[in-house]
Amino acid sequence: MSNRRNFLQAMSSLPFVGSIFAGGVTAAPTTRDFFKELGVRPFINAAGTYTTLTASLMHPEVMAAINYASKTFVPLNDLHDAVGKRIAELLGCEAAMVTSGAAAALTAGTAGVVAGKNPEWIKRIPDIAGTGMKSEVIVQKSHRNGYDHAVRNCGIKLIEVETAEEIERAINEKTAMMFFFNDADPKGQVKLEQFVAIAKKHKLPVLNDAAADAPPTEHLSKYTKMGVDLVAFSGGKGIRGPQSAGLLLGRKDLIEAARLNYSPNSDSIGRGMKVNKEELLGMMVAVEVYLKRDAAAEWKEWERRAKVVIDAAKSANKAISGEVYVPPIANHVPTVRIKWEKSALNLTADEVRKRMKEGTPSIEITPGNTPAAEASQSFSVGIWQLQPGEVDIVAKRLKESLV
Ligand SMILES: *Cc1c(COP(=O)(O)O)cnc(C)c1O
Repeated sequence: MSNRRNFLQAMSSLPFVGSIFAGGVTAAPTTRDFFKELGVRPFINAAGTYTTLTASLMHPEVMAAINYASKTFVPLNDLHDAVGKRIAELLGCEAAMVTSGAAAALTAGTAGVVAGKNPEWIKRIPDIAGTGMKSEVIVQKSHRNGYDHAVRNCGIKLIEVETAEEIERAINEKTAMMFFFNDADPKGQVKLEQFVAIAKKHKLPVLNDAAADAPPTEHLSKYTKMGVDLVAFSGGKGIRGPQSAGLLLGRKDLIEAARLNYSPNSDSIGRGMKVNKEELLGMMVAVEVYLKRDAAAEWKEWERRAKVVIDAAKSANKAISGEVYVPPIANHVPTVRIKWEKSALNLTADEVRKRMKEGTPSIEITPGNTPAAEASQSFSVGIWQLQPGEVDIVAKRLKESLV
């Protein structure tokens, strides 16, 4: 008889310890209402994939993969390699890695470019002065956004430019990379294709932040196929993977370098951005499910929901109008905008938002995506994160709240 069996037998003969092995710990969670216990109020998500609103819900197949992963030990780097390889095959890019989010993918990618595979440099980031590491990243002024902190935390300096000519002039021996914010493409003077062409001419890598840009599905392969060296996506927005997961896709040598600058390597900038076996498998399965889904049917359902919401809002008061808009790049899904004339309805968007949130059930709607002057008489409703049946609850409550 093995020592382990002896041990288990001895343990199970003790009544208290035995109950732990008999499932006393694992059985409990199914019957507990944790959010109620903690006094945290759940809500219907009529907003969208906002991180502070917990973004999206994981598909049951993703949860099954997470549960599967939770039950056994595996070598973490082997799983990282294998999952990365599978995701790269699925998306048709050279290489891929799972990170703890798109922001972590930006850091991993930047560190991979700046420190490469140099063990001394990997340890030094973000303290890169005087090391010989290239320290400048070129970005268009209109592409600056809060998330570029995840690039700056590698110790580099962002060099702002506006025109193609300025990019050419800014490139020097200290230039490490060129950074692009996909959603800002229409705002920048240099479009992605030209941006990539300039980078290629100077043999500089491009990192593209496309965090919120799936759907459409095609975006997951579009940018790597057009020659962008590294592309970052959120795993937990439209793709419905774990919230604490993201994807870095692109060139094999750069992904390898990014991996070395990342957890589980202790002395690296990415060590605090750990992904464990659960996120790795969960993210992989989320990509599989995402690619298999019926995107056309999904879109049709979103349009149906948008109409239900607009009809309900309009039926509340004839001064109210509604329309569907589809943001061009990020959050590219049918979204409802409701508005009214100030003179016809004495109500502010904030008041509507408050009524929706504080009623039962609580419903979160998005802030109006409109010019500031109209913002108090306008708000948006995101319908794509609603669960089956919820649109009718949202419609009813909206009608009641618009009086
Ligand atoms: C959401 C978002 C991120 C961060 O994504 P996480 O997966 O939450 O880390 C980065 N960039 C942009 C443009 C985003 O919209």
